[in-house]
This record gives sequence, C-alpha cells and structure tokens, in this order.
Amino acid sequence: MSPDVVIIGSGMGGASLAAGLAPSGARITILERGTQIPDDAPARDPWRIYTNSAFRSKETWLDGTGTEFEPGNYYNVGGNSKLYGAVLIRYREEDFGELEHEDGISPAWPISYKDLATWYEKAEHLYNVRGDVTSDVCEPPHDGPYPFPPVPDEPALKVARQRLEDAGVQPFSLPLGVDIERWLAAGQTGWDGYPDQRCGKMDAETCGLAAALQHDNVDLITSAEVQTLQADPKTRRITSVTYKKGGEEHQLKPAVVVVCAGAVQSAALLLRSGLANSSDYVGRCFMNHNATAVIAIDPRFHNDSIYQKTFGINDWYLSDGNGGKPLGNVQLLGRVTPDILKIQVPQLPKFLAKWLSDHALDLYLISEDLPDPESRVVLKNGQIQLRWQRSNMTAHQKLVSKTKRTLRKAGFPIVLSRLFDGRVPSHQCGTVRMGGDPKTSVLDPDCRSWDHPNLYVSDAAALPTSAAVNPALTVAALALRTADTIRKELAQ
Ligand SMILES: Cc1cc2nc3c(=O)[nH]c(=O)nc-3n(C[C@H](O)[C@H](O)[C@H](O)COP(=O)(O)OP(=O)(O)OC[C@H]3O[C@@H](n4cnc5c(N)ncnc54)[C@H](O)[C@@H]3O)c2cc1C
Repeated sequence: MSPDVVIIGSGMGGASLAAGLAPSGARITILERGTQIPDDAPARDPWRIYTNSAFRSKETWLDGTGTEFEPGNYYNVGGNSKLYGAVLIRYREEDFGELEHEDGISPAWPISYKDLATWYEKAEHLYNVRGDVTSDVCEPPHDGPYPFPPVPDEPALKVARQRLEDAGVQPFSLPLGVDIERWLAAGQTGWDGYPDQRCGKMDAETCGLAAALQHDNVDLITSAEVQTLQADPKTRRITSVTYKKGGEEHQLKPAVVVVCAGAVQSAALLLRSGLANSSDYVGRCFMNHNATAVIAIDPRFHNDSIYQKTFGINDWYLSDGNGGKPLGNVQLLGRVTPDILKIQVPQLPKFLAKWLSDHALDLYLISEDLPDPESRVVLKNGQIQLRWQRSNMTAHQKLVSKTKRTLRKAGFPIVLSRLFDGRVPSHQCGTVRMGGDPKTSVLDPDCRSWDHPNLYVSDAAALPTSAAVNPALTVAALALRTADTIRKELAQ
C-alpha cells in the first residue's frame, strides 16, 4: 500500500518535516539514498576524513568549465548535517526584507521573519540548541531563551574573546547543537566536519529523524535513490515516485510528495523528471556563501583548545560599521589541528604545522551570495554541472580586510587567509526558490510547486536568499512550517 506522504531525503529538511508531520498520523515513507554512518567508522581520524574523503560518495560533478570534481556533498542518513558544524542560527529579521549589498540586491522573501519566528523556536527545541539570546548585536526577536545555555569557551578561547573585545568588537556565543560532554566522551576532537556517530551532535538523524521514527506511521527506507517523479498531464498531480534499491526499480503512489534531497540534488531530480519548471527557474539562482578561512597567529597565544568553535562576530553583518553596506558574519572554525594544517598545506614540515596550530586562532568568514539566474545547476548528459557564478565579492573582500585589521589590533601580528573554492558546496541553496510570482519562482510561499498541487520542496533549495549565516536552522524551521501546511491539507 502506498503511503500518504513520501519525503525524499532524510537530511535537515526531510527529517525536520517528518518530525513535524508524524504526530498527524499520516502514513509517511522517507526515501534516503544513503545509509547510516556506522558506529565503527573512522569518524575522528582527520586523515580519513580530509584526505580519503571517507564519508563522501564517489559521485563526480562538472564545474562551469566542464572539469570533473568530487563535491564535498554527503549522502547518508541525516544528509550533510551529519558532518556539519552544528551552528544553528536564525537568519536576521532584516534578511527577510530587501537588502542593498555592495554588488546588488538581496530580494525580499515572500514571507516575513514574523511568519517564521514560531517555527524557528520549534526548530531550536527539536535540535536542543545551546545559546544566549542577549549577546549577538543583530539577534532577531525571540519569544524566550534558547533551550540550553551556550557551549562554554575553552580557556584559550576566553583569552581570544577578551582580546577581540578589547580590539573593539562584540563577540557572541554561537547558537550550537552539541552536547559537549557526550561529544568529547566519544573522542577528543571538534565536531565541525567530523561525522556524528550518535554521540552528542544534534543533527537531522539524532533529532529530527529520531523524533519522527518514534511514530509507527513513519518508515525510513535507506539505499533508496529516487530516479524520477511522474505527473498526470491533465491534473498536473504527481502520481508516482520511482526509486532504485538493490539494483531494482520500485514505485510509490502517495497523495503528497515532498522533495528534500538538498539544493543541488532536488534541482537535479526535478530537471531529470521534467517537472515543476514552467518558470524555467529550476536549478537557477544557485547560491553558496563566499567563505574564507582565516588563521591569526601570535607566538604569545597558546591555543590548547579541542573544539574552539564557540563564538562569532556580527558587528559588520548589517553594515560595515561606518554606515556602509552589509559585509557578513565571522565565526570560529572548528580547531585546526597540526594534522588538518598538514593535510591542507602538505609542503608544511610537521614541526611547523604543530607550532602554527599551537599559536593560531582559526576563523570562518561568510558573506551573502546574491541570487543570479545565471548561477545554475544543469544536467549534461545526465551528469550534474554546477555553474556557480560568485557574487558580492566586494563585500567579502571588505569583510576579510576588516577582520584581519581587527585581529592585528587584538595582538595577532600574522593573519593568513584562504578563500574556499566551489568544490565545497556546503551552504548550497536557492535552486528551487520560493517566491510570490510564479514567473520568477518555482514554489509558492508555502513551498508548494506552482505547477503541481501535491508537490512540495522543503530543503535548502527553497531558500530565496542565502543571507550570511549558516542555513540549517532556517531549513529546519521552513520544513516544520511546510509540515503544518501539509497536515492541514491532508485533514481536509
Ligand atoms: C562540512 C559541513 C559543515 C556545515 N556546517 C554547518 C553549520 O555549522 N551550520 C549550518 O547551518 N549548516 C552547516 N552546513 C550546511 C548544512 O548541513 C545544510 O545546510 C543542510 O544539511 C541542508 O539541508 P538539506 O535538507 O537541504 O540537505 P541535506 O541535509 O544534505 O539532505 C539531503 C538528503 O537527501 C538525500 N538525497 C539526495 N538525493 C537523493 C535522491 N535522489 N533520493 C533519495 N535521497 C536523496 C541525501 O543523501 C541527504 O540525506 C554544513 C555542511 C557541511 C557539508
């Protein structure tokens, strides 16, 4: 018997949506192409993670020039969130309106911050977020505190935070989904980039999916890769979902289909199926933050931290600090250990990698990427081609310069930086955008396809803008909201 609802993908969007919809009693099947990350996987070995890409699929995509590459995209139960840095931060209230940036306009969402605020709060409870609503200079309004207090700074980070405060900025505690005691009990590493084996990271598997699977009406089928969707040409309704498992093709015929395969794969699935694209916007407006890693070195600073990733700086989020345009967000990276440095810069002698790591503070700088219809995911002979057109680099360069200046003022005489390249689409979004106009968007403001009444897309693909903060909490909040829309529809 076919279920009422098929959800494609068990990542942040799919798992959160399943959690929101499960109490309705609707029969839900989640189809996930990956499997569960095993308990005995080499999950804390940076050499396996960063060099052999032990947790990546061997899938290749083409870049804009037609060159093949292995994307940093993860297919497993819980999706990319299994490897994520667990920063669970809301978009700013202003991110939902039109914002003028250095190199263009970030358009308004079809819904306001107020429309999503209650869903943000539910998502923060589902993902047990640790944080402090008072310390971020542009924190949007909250109805109450975070469910748990912030993850504490390690001693070296207390020193770094104080130095930055003395240099004139206002570090805030990053909202995080990590039970730090449980995480460290399982291994003495940071969590950013390390896969979670159900030992303290609050991700799509351990929170969203775990909540959904408590209900008998929810099934998860793993190693089930959805190939295409089919629609009735007359009613435009999606009639069936075809997936492959164990080399065999299967079909389900649910009443509602929700695509949550991640921004690139959701667009690829719709393109492959030839559906939902009357606007010709499927795959367009691909965004991925402009991101730079910064390493600030001071021989007098002793960094003996294990996880490091506890604070951020939003002083230049809404303006450059002098009344100019927005620049972006600064946050600590997970600790860059000597091994990780050596993997990134193989020519570095081991002793130097250790010395640098011991005296460095590591940061991650994010600026908004603006939606551009020419920045696209397309299929070329069935293979994914990612034609990412970066935008708004003026703002990003200014953010990097400001941060470097501040770090020097904070007593770090050497500050090095490296721009992340397009092979790491960690913050991919925008390719199946929601909007108010069916001519320039694929989804209506409820994340329903303008073309197919029983088709929803509720993952990072739906985000109409990338803002300059990490996307996962917004994906989860939107999915909980979509679940509520579907619940009401099924009840009618
Ligand atoms: C290393 C890393 C660090 C990150 N750190 C952060 C962070 O600190 N904070 C933050 O907010 N975000 C972070 N992100 C981004 C975050 O993980 C994503 O924004 C989020 O997971 C997106 O949710 P999603 O549902 O769109 O996609 P995903 O979570 O990737 O889920 C998509 C799911 O669909 C499955 N799937 C794909 N195609 C098919 C198919 N055809 N059939 C069936 N199943 C399919 C995939 O296997 C996957 O499980 C990070 C990402 C990475 C890679």
